Amino acid sequence: MKVLVYGSGQLAQMMCLAAVPLGIQVRAVDVTTRNVVDPISKEVLDTSLDDAINESDALTVEFEHVPEDLLEQASSSGKLYPGIDAILAGADRVREKQVLEELAVKNSDHLIITDVSQLHEAIDSLGEKLILKASRDGYDGYGQWRLKSKNELASLCQELACLDLSKVPLIAEKMVPFDRELSLLGARNSQGEFVFYPLAENLHHQGQLHVSVAPAPQVTGSLIVQAQSAFKLLADKFEYVGVMAVEFFQVGDELLVNEIAPRVHNSGHWSMQGADTSQFENHMRAITGLPLGNANAKYKSAMINIIGCDDYSTDLLSINRCHLHLYGKSVRPKRKMGHINLTGESYAEIAELMTTLAKYLPMAYFPKLLDEADKLSELN
Ligand code: AMP
Repeated sequence: MKVLVYGSGQLAQMMCLAAVPLGIQVRAVDVTTRNVVDPISKEVLDTSLDDAINESDALTVEFEHVPEDLLEQASSSGKLYPGIDAILAGADRVREKQVLEELAVKNSDHLIITDVSQLHEAIDSLGEKLILKASRDGYDGYGQWRLKSKNELASLCQELACLDLSKVPLIAEKMVPFDRELSLLGARNSQGEFVFYPLAENLHHQGQLHVSVAPAPQVTGSLIVQAQSAFKLLADKFEYVGVMAVEFFQVGDELLVNEIAPRVHNSGHWSMQGADTSQFENHMRAITGLPLGNANAKYKSAMINIIGCDDYSTDLLSINRCHLHLYGKSVRPKRKMGHINLTGESYAEIAELMTTLAKYLPMAYFPKLLDEADKLSELN
């Protein structure tokens, strides 16, 4: 079996690493140069994109912002999983909101802004605390602006003046006073069967994921039902094949969808050590027609992103049940360089491991680690 992944970053790398034991050969497309590359070494391979498409049994994406002409070409091969509608809904927040509204899946109150003058209307209907998101090409907090009060509106309008909102609208969202952020990852195969990972709790800083804990502590049956129902509605609508992630805000006992990611997701990286079958393996299984693997958690897990730094000690590997996954990138501010997975029998054990781990890390880059360890230490 051969798989071609659009995008050649860490997610393609981890899909490739999971595919090898299944006898699946993975190649990647660098979507900027349009070269076919090795997903681990990034070496350019002596194959044209057309040939790579023809030779592949399945095509997939590691991120949703693939140029549309490439996606169209991939889709016309009839081998793109998930399909183009799911990928485009993940790439365009206007489409994403339309799908959520059409399926009556609860999400944050919002307005689509095609002209800055509509921001007054947004404040009138949604309140003065708003988060504005570019509908396309925004990720990890990029392409987002926060309005904390009406007084900031004039300066925000100036900042937005350079954007052509008629071409790329903004979504103005009510700032949700959420209790926490959760995500659900699952896989759907072409027969419409599902496996679900346990909900993960996600801690963000400046719009970027820093820490995930799975299974999320203190999850009620009602939260699982709400999350899985929303997931199923969306995945069935797209006739989705592969792993998908849905990010939620928990407000009291209610879940609101924040975002859909039509791909493997950072908040599922814990599954590499913490689940029976990792998200990467399940994605490969789903898109090549292999049976889906059990997605149960074997342990309590914490996943800690290494962001914008490389001056940590690899002696952290001396910690029991600590695993390092590096992406082979040069360091840049806010760049995801790798992640660390910890597993334990209890949250208290995870908390201890996190506290030990902190000794090996430059703490300025890990602002969520010790607070989360404190919280987990009080759980069983
Ligand atoms: P996003 O790119 O939409 O996932 O946003 C990045 C992060 O910004 C989220 O994980 C939240 O921490 C925060 N955020 C996004 N939308 C909202 C919202 N409507 N209310 C409060 N916080 C938000």
